[in-house]
Amino acid sequence: MTAISVRDLHVTLGKSPILRGVDLSVASGEWVAVIGPNGAGKSTLLRAIGGLLPTSGAVSLLGTPVERLRRRARARTVATVAQSPVVPPGMSVFDYVLLGRTPFVSLLGRESAGDLAAVRALLDRLDLSGFGDRELETLSGGERQRAFLARALAQEPSLLLLDEPTSALDIGHQQEVLELVDTLRRDQGLTVLATMHDLSIAGGYADRLVLLAEGAVVAAGTPREVLTEELLSRFYRARVRVVDGVD
Ligand code: ADP
Ligand code: MG
Ligand code: MG
Repeated sequence: MTAISVRDLHVTLGKSPILRGVDLSVASGEWVAVIGPNGAGKSTLLRAIGGLLPTSGAVSLLGTPVERLRRRARARTVATVAQSPVVPPGMSVFDYVLLGRTPFVSLLGRESAGDLAAVRALLDRLDLSGFGDRELETLSGGERQRAFLARALAQEPSLLLLDEPTSALDIGHQQEVLELVDTLRRDQGLTVLATMHDLSIAGGYADRLVLLAEGAVVAAGTPREVLTEELLSRFYRARVRVVDGVD
């Protein structure tokens, strides 16, 4: 089944065309990484797929056009972790993850015992069970990224959009977070679309790569197909040494 389908997507911000006819599809359970130089439009693409920008062209999530999903239905289908999520000052990790339950909580009511249990289970799952009372601001980079993921997973999404989930982390914590995402994908059948900065890491985790440049897809395929010196030198305008052993 196609989890994410994007056809001829155009986005204009201000007066500038940022995405210029993007086609993309992600199968259910797949992990696709969007790579490309700074300013290529990767973050804009994720926001458009999440239904957060006016676009022309078609974006469907699990077969439904994204603009037809009401806000709460959309939040139960697709969850986004931005590159630098807002960290509300003074908010506990528990309350922050509870924010992810908003699409399930009655507007007039309050969280249920089930919502509280869901948050506790997520803190456990993401190795944050000792952190519920801590202020989010006091967490280290890796711990914070796990809290951001927990907040997204609290929405019980089928699709997870991650914007450079590891750009603030050292290599050890990058791997820890990506292993976690991979395990969640396998255990829960999540579909993952992530923009990724580090090419060898992207190639090591994603099933397929999409190379975006100046708002258009210029290559897509397996890591081996996309991570070629020819393509990378052309679109990153740098001499790139391709790392062996990515599949
Ligand atoms: P990437 O994530 O690949 O680095 P972005 O999607 O963040 O790229 O940005 C793509 C281009 O769109 C950049 O040139 C950026 O300056 C521009 N852009 C982003 N947001 C806006 C905006 N609100 N108004 C005008 N231009 C924008
Ligand atoms: Mg970006
Ligand atoms: Mg769901």
